[in-house]
Amino acid sequence: MEDPRQHILPVYRPPEEVFVQGEGVYLFTEDGRRYLDFIAGIAVTALGHAHPAMVEALRDQAGKLWHTSNMFRVKGQEELADKICRDSFADRVFFTNSGTEAIECAIKAARKYHWAAGNADRLDIITFTGAFHGRSIGAINAGGNPKYLEGFGPKLPGFVHLEWGDHDALKAAVAASTAAAVLVEPVQGEGGVRAMPEQCLKGLRDLCNEHGVLLIYDEVQCGMGRTGQLWGYQWAAGADPDILCAAKGIGGGFPFGACLMTEAVGEPMQPGSHGSTYGGNPLAMAVGNVVWDIISSEEFLANVRRVSGTLQQGLKSLADSHPDKVEGVTGKGLLTGLRLKADPKNLQGICRDGGLLTGVAGNNVLRLAPPLIIDDAQVRDAIGMIDAALTEWTP
Ligand SMILES: *Cc1c(COP(=O)(O)O)cnc(C)c1O
Repeated sequence: MEDPRQHILPVYRPPEEVFVQGEGVYLFTEDGRRYLDFIAGIAVTALGHAHPAMVEALRDQAGKLWHTSNMFRVKGQEELADKICRDSFADRVFFTNSGTEAIECAIKAARKYHWAAGNADRLDIITFTGAFHGRSIGAINAGGNPKYLEGFGPKLPGFVHLEWGDHDALKAAVAASTAAAVLVEPVQGEGGVRAMPEQCLKGLRDLCNEHGVLLIYDEVQCGMGRTGQLWGYQWAAGADPDILCAAKGIGGGFPFGACLMTEAVGEPMQPGSHGSTYGGNPLAMAVGNVVWDIISSEEFLANVRRVSGTLQQGLKSLADSHPDKVEGVTGKGLLTGLRLKADPKNLQGICRDGGLLTGVAGNNVLRLAPPLIIDDAQVRDAIGMIDAALTEWTP
């Protein structure tokens, strides 16, 4: 029999299951098997699958107008940007189709800001080990992961990679006359679901201020309510960024992203300096406005914090009852996981066979990122399934 994947570029290694339908926190295969979704398309389907308000908004917009490009005003962009700026540090928003593109916009805006101020040699984007910022040439150079750079030509100048937690190196890099911006995930996603301590975010903000360096948060994965605050950095007081990249949860499954910035950073980005054909198209904006209205409410976020507590408690109990296999609990809110003593790939497969979908991160973390609408009973179900899988697992 022919491999049905023979014409797909083999950059992924998905399991055999084919999902054909989603409902809330569950996914279904063709043969009707039900799975509890604790990865949510990698922290994307924040409101679960087929949320009625999102479906209605998309259907309604699909019957009216799909696309005009940014040659023309897009009403939905103006509405959503108003809401984002009402609820955030930001004054200006650029809409993209993905997280990677939000990162590209952030890097360009940071450099342009310094260039416009007469500091054209402030080019360096400072990042940390374990970072992930996307897969474009710019984003892999920002991330600095050697595995992702291999074979794709010379490393670009203008990126400085530091060891996570090396404060002396950080101070020196930010003080350098070539420093443009620090780019950091308040909770690293791919790198192992690792939260930056709150006092470090504040310290980083102060350090950047001291040297006129911009602070960029990559909240593509940890933003949009995932940690129980609208943005993950908001757990730290006084640590507002100059630029913030959002995507994943912001579209709830419709692909789009956003680069948020202050007036000062946005000012030099004048006509001709950046653009996108599709970014912020009417379909994306119809869904994005609905997602924003739901997730940005304090009541919704309070519920995320509450259910996060249930999940964290459950994970701690798993760590306690499987000390031979689990090293600890990591992450924040509903971007979390179990740090294991071995590669979690097999465990992920056992969970899936038991009806639970999970992710992996770093080289030893079983990553959990359920839809934000998950409830306590569903969390307890998941904990029970992971418990059974851990018992069965031989690392
Ligand atoms: C997923 C991710 C990206 C890249 O987003 P895409 O939509 O895949 O381009 C960038 N940064 C972080 C932190 C991510 O998790």
